[in-house]
Amino acid sequence: MDGITKREGKMIFWHEATLIGTGILTMALMTTPAVAANGEFGPGNPFYAPSTLPFQAPPFDKIKDGDYQPAIEAGMARQREEIRVIADNPAAPTFENTLVALEKSGQLLNRVMQVFNGVTGANLSPELQKVQDIEAPKLAAHQDAIFLDSKLFKRVDAIYQERASLGLDPESSRLLQFYYDQFVHAGAKLADADKAELKKLNEEEATLSTAFTNKLLTATKDGAYITADKSTLAGLNDVALEAAVQAAKDRGAKGYVIPLQNTTQQPDLKFLSQRATRQTIFENSWNRTERGGANDTRETVTRLAQLRAQKAKLLGFHNYAAWKLEDQMAKTPEAALKFMDALVPGSTAKADAESKEIQALIDGQKGGFQLQPWDWDFYAEQVRKAKYDLDEETIKPYFELNNVLQNGVFYAANQLYGISFRERTDIPVYHPDVRVFDVFDADGKPLALFYCDYFKRDNKNGGAWMENFVNQSKLLGHLPVVFNVANFTKPAPGQPALISFTDVTTMFHEFGHALHGMFANTVYPSLSGSQVARDFVEFPSQFNEHWALYPAVFEHYAKHYKTGAPMPEDLVAKIKKSEKFNGGYALTEVVAAAELDMQWHTLPTSASPQNPDEFETQALEKTHLLLSAVPSRYRSSYFQHIWGGGYAAGYYAYLWSEMLDDAAYQWFEDHGGMTRANGDRFRQMILSRGNTEELGKMYSAWFGGEPTIEPMLKDRGLLPEENSK
Ligand SMILES: [Zn+2]
Repeated sequence: MDGITKREGKMIFWHEATLIGTGILTMALMTTPAVAANGEFGPGNPFYAPSTLPFQAPPFDKIKDGDYQPAIEAGMARQREEIRVIADNPAAPTFENTLVALEKSGQLLNRVMQVFNGVTGANLSPELQKVQDIEAPKLAAHQDAIFLDSKLFKRVDAIYQERASLGLDPESSRLLQFYYDQFVHAGAKLADADKAELKKLNEEEATLSTAFTNKLLTATKDGAYITADKSTLAGLNDVALEAAVQAAKDRGAKGYVIPLQNTTQQPDLKFLSQRATRQTIFENSWNRTERGGANDTRETVTRLAQLRAQKAKLLGFHNYAAWKLEDQMAKTPEAALKFMDALVPGSTAKADAESKEIQALIDGQKGGFQLQPWDWDFYAEQVRKAKYDLDEETIKPYFELNNVLQNGVFYAANQLYGISFRERTDIPVYHPDVRVFDVFDADGKPLALFYCDYFKRDNKNGGAWMENFVNQSKLLGHLPVVFNVANFTKPAPGQPALISFTDVTTMFHEFGHALHGMFANTVYPSLSGSQVARDFVEFPSQFNEHWALYPAVFEHYAKHYKTGAPMPEDLVAKIKKSEKFNGGYALTEVVAAAELDMQWHTLPTSASPQNPDEFETQALEKTHLLLSAVPSRYRSSYFQHIWGGGYAAGYYAYLWSEMLDDAAYQWFEDHGGMTRANGDRFRQMILSRGNTEELGKMYSAWFGGEPTIEPMLKDRGLLPEENSK
């Protein structure tokens, strides 16, 4: 019963910057009315029976777009029958006839959904989009029907009450706890009247979330900077100007259009030399959803915050965050707040030092003005160039994609864990750009199948992510089938794919998630691999990023694609130094957003409706994050993650995972670095264990104590001694 049973829907691990893309997609789909599907489902459907390919890999050579919908419908119907059999079983509830039976249910649905999710994310067609429109709300309702089924919960509860005398092994105990918590968290213990009230609030929340997303989508589009006067765009290079002309054409307009990105800061501000243009673009961004009229989101935000507090009260919590964090590693909003508070002094001090450096540059150029948010990136870029003189184009020839993959990403995994890789061309794929590798364990036994799909396509979601086609499970006899997707520029035919160091880091990152999936070694599918709490899931991926710059790994892959020469020392040093540049700003804007999120969601259930602008100012002031030149990465009125995505009271998770991964890397450094012994221990105690133990305990057992924040501050260049440099 893995895959689709997560409360938030499908688990996908987005880079923070791209999450909004999916958020919009998913929520927009929810507004389409459901229509019954009439497709036939029988043995001719490729999802009808488990795949006969190695690792039960999806038979993409047989799957047609029309096969998904009948299989999804049949999968839901079959799981409903399976659930009825479990719930109506006349025998007394046992772990076997209830929990294990639940784990075995829904296999057809999982089989099709994992492939469907993968393909709609990476290779969407109009036909699949329609299927998604129709099935998304049905799938959400399907899941609710399971977790609010009182008969089913009664059985789970009965077993849970007996848990001490059942003699369950640790993983089975964890599974029982997991299901019990999921049911209770969803409201299974409420009286019928309260359940009805909760459903109403959930419905209103979903409607408002969709409204927020749609308003924001339109407001963001309307907030574009439009001009016929090329001179206002001075500073943009030809590629960017070309993109602005194209953006205008796409809208059926003449001249130039600079569309808004989801964040407060806009990438072109780095290059635009006219201050007035920068200010206009920034203000378009900042005020996008606060212009009055149909796309103003402030009333929606006010009501969402209020109804979430009401929901928390109904579920027996003093605020929404307390309910939401119950099953996270941090456990309580207090723990998350304490963690964030500890980041504030270092990040704001560094941002302050950076602002002084920038102001000095402005003054040196006789600018005659005080640094404003719309000036920051423009002058920071000048400081960066003066300090590091780092040119992307001189670096890229050392990062040829296949070389980075095999001699960097795979090599690091081999050195740490002993695993090896062999490309195979006999496994069908959903697009010719997709490559497939057998992954072998250190003893030569088959471990997993790994797919990678790295090049940008118009029908692919933005960003990069990892998913499973098949989740590992000993109960079901499944080995993992895992894939990584990214959006790197595809070279012209016959040309090498030369990528940036950011792209290199992305490959290591997504492969870290992939390792979490491939090393999974659990009995129950629901606890397997990367299906862990949001504030833990980015730990294996961010941890794996560290190896990209590890000397023994870097030397092994960073070689000129023509000559094979290693990257010159001074270039390597520049990359390392520039990694920490602007770190004060970068962290402060994220901490501000995370604090804002947590302040909204720790509103007491008794609080009166809040004015978003006033609330925001007070929240930032209270947390010492109200810096005039460093605005929050998102303003409350366009914070899609928390009002439209699944990150309410969860934005801190990115930073929390970073604390875990930096402390973990420090542990490796303190224990001899990249050795098989260290790798195997990490695999055995963390990467193979999925969600089979309380995550905090799992981490501290491996780490030998609680994670500390110092390695993160050091990695970000925020320790006091670094500030004085
Ligand atoms: Zn990730």
